[in-house]
Amino acid sequence: MAESMQGLNRTCRCAEISPEMEGSDITLMGWVSKSRNKGGIIFVDLRDRSGIMQIIFEEEHCGSEAFEKASKLRAEFVAAVTGTLIKRAGEVNENLKTGAFELKAKSIRILSESETPPFPIEADSKTKEELRLKYRYLDLRRPDIQEKIILRSKITASVRSFLTSEGFLEIETPILCKSTPEGARDYLVPSRIHPGEFYALPQSPQIFKQLLMCSGYDRYFQIAKCFRDEDLRADRQPEFTQIDMELSFVNEDDVMDVNERLLKKVCKDAIGLDVQLPLPRMTWQEAMDRFGSDKPDTRFGMELKDVSETVKGCGFGVFTSALENGGSVRGINVKGQAAMPRKKIDALVETAKEFGAKGLAYLCVNEDGTYKSSFAKFFDEAGLESLVKAMDGEKGDLLLFAADKNKVVWDVLGNLRLSIAHSLDMIDESKFNFLWVTDFPLLEWSDTEGRFTAMHHPFTMPNEDDWQYIDSDPARVRARAYDIVLNGTELGGGSVRIHMNDVQEKMFEALGFTKEQANEQFGFLLTAFKYGVPPHAGLAYGLDRLVMLLTGADSIREVMAFPKVKDASCLMTECPSPVDEKQLLELGIRTESAPAQEGSDEK
Ligand code: ASP
Repeated sequence: MAESMQGLNRTCRCAEISPEMEGSDITLMGWVSKSRNKGGIIFVDLRDRSGIMQIIFEEEHCGSEAFEKASKLRAEFVAAVTGTLIKRAGEVNENLKTGAFELKAKSIRILSESETPPFPIEADSKTKEELRLKYRYLDLRRPDIQEKIILRSKITASVRSFLTSEGFLEIETPILCKSTPEGARDYLVPSRIHPGEFYALPQSPQIFKQLLMCSGYDRYFQIAKCFRDEDLRADRQPEFTQIDMELSFVNEDDVMDVNERLLKKVCKDAIGLDVQLPLPRMTWQEAMDRFGSDKPDTRFGMELKDVSETVKGCGFGVFTSALENGGSVRGINVKGQAAMPRKKIDALVETAKEFGAKGLAYLCVNEDGTYKSSFAKFFDEAGLESLVKAMDGEKGDLLLFAADKNKVVWDVLGNLRLSIAHSLDMIDESKFNFLWVTDFPLLEWSDTEGRFTAMHHPFTMPNEDDWQYIDSDPARVRARAYDIVLNGTELGGGSVRIHMNDVQEKMFEALGFTKEQANEQFGFLLTAFKYGVPPHAGLAYGLDRLVMLLTGADSIREVMAFPKVKDASCLMTECPSPVDEKQLLELGIRTESAPAQEGSDEK
């Protein structure tokens, strides 16, 4: 039976003991990690969030009642032990923070018993993720997970302290918001009081933070929950957390400056990393041309090269037709891999196809100076030589080429570059390469929607030099937007905002909104801007991604206390779940059973 802890006080956490406590009596409380009965002596490892303390029970010291109780301890029992802190009689355990000490027990109370847990509570568990997430409260006891969750708290504390010291005010914005069709899909919340009407959960506090600038708060931040109903990928969750900020009377350099100093402090506080400032910057165009990605991993080379000029007169239809259609031919040089077996090259071709290529052309520069290639017959000797030269090719190199519209070529080679670097172990994992990517295009053509959509969001200020093209060549207009990238992952992004109503209206028009639609969706913002709005700019980080990269976790699920899985469900609480008919009635909602999905394995 569980005992009460009445009259007992915990002295400190297990690994918070200090050498001065040696010889004194202390009380520790925690979970039994291990217990071993060696006849006359029982060893117990007691665990809490700080670490583990070894406890020894000797009958002649603690008495038979306590000894008897100690002998009943099993894994995950919760116990309070009072005893004397002494130097270990046996060997010092170098693996434990407390390895030089042990607690010689005088008394024990069993505060709670435990059934045998469904998996061992230990670091680096090999247990399947589904089982771990079903029993997440047990999984969260594992030391390596605790380390990450504790580091997350350290990071948010560091963010708060830095931003507060820089004059930012922490202000909360609503969770029940107005739905806006722009951006990702909204999570909707039905209104009981207004039947048939819905709130949306915020995809970000974007509009509210801009309104706060209108209201004069001038530097805002929030650690904000955001919700996006997207098809989930490995690094996405339906709800996630942003470090969100907005500043008035600033330009992009001001935002980048304060954020660089924020990142420097957070990296130092969290993992002792010294980040050199200023951080490098690269335009979107350069990032695409050199890395085929707007979030380049700059920890390794293998950069893209545009060989369109070199191949333009060749007889290879794949290359020439791409050029005739306004596309390009680009390549990457996989150093020293000319002897890659045919099977592996075929696998690369398949990978390229997954990213939208129709094919992938290759050229091996053999050690003996000859070439092996899928397209050499369309080139004369001099043509091949100049192509190899354009690629900085040397004997032993494998050259890979894609030819298509620029967007496809970038995507294919950018992704191929990453997957080859991973498989050939080319990435120095000890590096933390931060990078600003700037000058994004303002708009992006969407084939599915048949219109331009905002690359960042509709409130991003266009580059004044390009604004003249908004009607004639909208794709050419650059945005005053910036992303912060770490090791090939987009950590966050932001922009200088539009604060002139005529520009904002024109932007809505370019996005295909009628005046009425714009007013219906964002009328309150346009109205607010009529009453004196300061120029403003901001940025938001994905906190989960930041913590994932700083802790070296493989996925953001590892750094969220209660994550959801790929299909957006929670394996522990089993949500989403059907609700009472009565609840639906109150909301004026009738459900239909969902139609069977294509490809579902319904029989
Ligand atoms: N609200 C934007 C986002 O969620 C970030 C920003 O522009 O500040 O991407």
